[in-house]
Amino acid sequence: MNIDLSRRGFLRLAGAGVAATSLGALGFGEAEAAEAAHVRAFKLATTTETRNTCPYCSVACGIIMYSKGDVKAGEKAELLHIEGDVDHPTNRGTLCPKGAALKDFVHAPTRLTQPRVRRPGSDRFEEISWDEALDGIARAIKDDRDENFIAKNDAGVTVNRWTTAGFLAASATTNETAWLTYKTVRSMGIVGFDNQARV
Ligand code: SF4
Repeated sequence: MNIDLSRRGFLRLAGAGVAATSLGALGFGEAEAAEAAHVRAFKLATTTETRNTCPYCSVACGIIMYSKGDVKAGEKAELLHIEGDVDHPTNRGTLCPKGAALKDFVHAPTRLTQPRVRRPGSDRFEEISWDEALDGIARAIKDDRDENFIAKNDAGVTVNRWTTAGFLAASATTNETAWLTYKTVRSMGIVGFDNQARV
C-alpha cells in the first residue's frame, strides 16, 4: 500500500477494493479493473500547504491554503482549497462563514491584484507596478513629513507630531506585526492611526 495515501483516500480505495475483489471472485475480471480505475486520488494529495491569516476581521484566524503548481519552478500556483489551521491557537481549525468562503474571495473576478493610482486631474485609476507604488508612497511620506513635521509646540515643548498624514493598518495580523506597525507609525510622529477593525 502507498504509505502516502490519505485516510479518506484509503477508505475509498479499501471500499472499492472489497467490491472489486468480490466481483473478481464472481468471475467479473473486467469489472474489477474498471472499479479500481474509478477510484479518484484525494484532491489535496499532491498540493502545497501554505499557512496564512484570514484577512477579514481582527480575530485573525489561522488558515491553510492548498495549491497546485510549483511557484519556485516558475509555475503559477492554483489555489484549490482553504481550511482552518488546527494548530493555530486562535481558532483551532474553525472558521466562520466568511473565512470558510475565502477561496471564492481569492478567485473573485473583481479582486484587486495590482496597485492602482488616480493621478491628479485624472478621472480614472490606472494599474502600476508594486515598485512604482512603493516608491511613490515613500516619496509622498518623505515630502509631506519634511514639510509638516512639528518638533516643538508654541510653548517650546518637544511634541514630535506629524498631523497632516494618517495611517490605516490591517487587523488581520499577528501581535508581533501589529506591534511593529504601531512602533513604525508612532515613531514617524503620526497621530491619526486606526485600523479597519477599530481595535
Ligand atoms: S474566519 Fe471569521 S472570525 Fe476568523 S478571522 Fe476570518 S472573518 Fe474573522
